[in-house]
Amino acid sequence: MTNLRAVKGMNDVLPAEIGRWHRVEEAFARTMTLYGYREVRTPLVEPTPLFVRTVGETTDIVEKEMYSFEHRGEALTLRPEGTAGAARAYVEHNVHGVEPVTKWWYRGAMFRAERPQRGRYRQFYQLGAEHLGDPGPGADAEMIDMLVSFLGAIGVRDARVLVNSLGSGESRAAYRAALAAYLEGKRGALSEDSQRRLSTNPLRILDSKDPRDQEAVRGAPGLHEHLTDADREHFRLLRAHLDELGTPYTVDERLVRGLDYYTRTLFEMKGATDKLGAGDTLLGGGRYDTMVRDLGGPDVPAIGFAAGLERLVIASDVEVRASATDAYVAPLGAAGVGVALVLGRDLRRQGVRAEVDARGSSLKAQLRRANALGARIALILGDEELAAGAVQLKDLDARTQETLPREQAVRVVADRLRGGRVEST
Ligand code: AMP
Repeated sequence: MTNLRAVKGMNDVLPAEIGRWHRVEEAFARTMTLYGYREVRTPLVEPTPLFVRTVGETTDIVEKEMYSFEHRGEALTLRPEGTAGAARAYVEHNVHGVEPVTKWWYRGAMFRAERPQRGRYRQFYQLGAEHLGDPGPGADAEMIDMLVSFLGAIGVRDARVLVNSLGSGESRAAYRAALAAYLEGKRGALSEDSQRRLSTNPLRILDSKDPRDQEAVRGAPGLHEHLTDADREHFRLLRAHLDELGTPYTVDERLVRGLDYYTRTLFEMKGATDKLGAGDTLLGGGRYDTMVRDLGGPDVPAIGFAAGLERLVIASDVEVRASATDAYVAPLGAAGVGVALVLGRDLRRQGVRAEVDARGSSLKAQLRRANALGARIALILGDEELAAGAVQLKDLDARTQETLPREQAVRVVADRLRGGRVEST
């Protein structure tokens, strides 16, 4: 029988790596709290039509990447992204009825059947947020600036910020027609996929990685010529606010992103290219002013983003001290196990991380494991110590050792750990 393995593109995150994940997640949660966002948790499984209607029927995600299945007559999908579920929850719970502005953040697994490569997986984690009830552009600039600060906090200081405006529905429709007319003249030069997109979703051709498509769109009309005055002013103010905040950015008129729900502001941040290669888009987001209404809710504008957690962990330079415990309690024989269990429990009651070794192994083996776990102190219980009601305290950092009455051990260990590396009296 062959051994079972994880599903292709889906990864285990083992405890040796989790410290770096925690650092990134904690930095994110801290940033979100500073900006007034509160955490929301929505299901991993949603009705399939939710994504078809919001992400868009002719997007890559909906056309080829969703894990969809039927269960007891219901069409269900493992969520490929977080915004649609958040917007669904917002409408379902009539959140608009109780607060005019809503700021939610989330973290969780997403699923897309993409071709796995570095930084691209089939189950991956996103950190994201939604800011509903504010039409921007102030909120948009603040979100972009917030994300630059967050990336800085996890050590990504070279992030490149790309911004664009897709305009509202009216601008989009005019541009779509102009682009389709232009590309129709070059139909034969386009990839097969893009020939099909010409009638379904011509904007997606701008995003194509196929060199034939990239060549064909080189002379295509620009999106910004088709923006309405109101859209143009929205985008001008966004840039003005970013300038006032001192946030560097580049306008990329070709930035479209792979989801249909965006309106007006669109942005992406790339960074740590040396570590991530081509998959260096750390996060992306934009405005989705019509989604809430399209889902049967009120006319509430919104903006949001999502960041790939694996990519942030790869990009981040935070160092994590891989220590799993502080105090290691080492009885040298079966007779000491009971005393060791009590010591361990009492240490933990004082907030000290403690590990009790009840395996009955040799002193050498126990100290090796204490070091491997990153313990600072070992408490050794040999026959002599047991008989004397004492314990031997070995400071593994300072390389000192002393014998203490057992009833003082918890206090001395707690004091020593609290006081850094100072000696006990
Ligand atoms: P999107 O939801 O497509 O706007 O993507 C937002 C961010 O999620 C991207 O910038 C990536 O960092 C991350 N991401 C998207 N798809 C994947 C994937 N298949 N594997 C890992 N990260 C992903």
